[in-house]
Amino acid sequence: MTRRLVIAIDGPSASGKGTLAKRLATHFGLPHLDTGLLYRAVGAISARTGQMPAEVAERLTAADLDDPALRGDEAGQAGSRAAAIPEVRANLLNFQKEFSSQAMGAVLDGRDIGTVICPDAPVKLFVTASVESRAERRFQELRQRGVDTIKPRVLAEMAERDRRDSERAAAPLKAAPDAWLLDTSNMDADAAFAAALAFIKRKGFRSSGP
Ligand code: C5P
Repeated sequence: MTRRLVIAIDGPSASGKGTLAKRLATHFGLPHLDTGLLYRAVGAISARTGQMPAEVAERLTAADLDDPALRGDEAGQAGSRAAAIPEVRANLLNFQKEFSSQAMGAVLDGRDIGTVICPDAPVKLFVTASVESRAERRFQELRQRGVDTIKPRVLAEMAERDRRDSERAAAPLKAAPDAWLLDTSNMDADAAFAAALAFIKRKGFRSSGP
């Protein structure tokens, strides 16, 4: 019998978890859900329309996730604030659980995937890196996108989001006890992918592709 491969990836912002999740999903031919987008969309729509975040979360549709502005830091901060509201989390729970229950398996990345959404996932990764190297990555990414900012500001915002995500009462950012810790401070995306793949193979999973 083949085991269903569900890969749960958690970690702070700019740790490299999103890139890793996408590459693993492609490699194993699995659907991928970036759960941060759900919270970003709730925060951004609520800020724009004045609706209560919990109501926005209840009515969120896939089309709401297409807005490119959701990738920006403003939406990230709004998402982090919305994510601290227990009703918002409760209203987004079923969608995420259903996504992770697909017959073929799935890859999900976020903050509480291994602890709350998929506690039974056979593969759990906690991807982290020092706040300085994460801020440096985000700074370079913002510059490439033409955003005018300075490093100390990016670092301060990153530290603020870390603190809010780790200290909140509702599903704080933390590694599941059975998660494998991957510190990408001194790794590029290729090295992180190779390390994660080796771990997943040790768990007995192989890609079905060539
Ligand atoms: O990962 P990303 O930066 O897109 O997430 C935006 C915000 O959404 C995070 O700062 C975090 O507060 C929240 N989030 C969460 N749980 C998840 C995914 C994201 O609380 N599973």
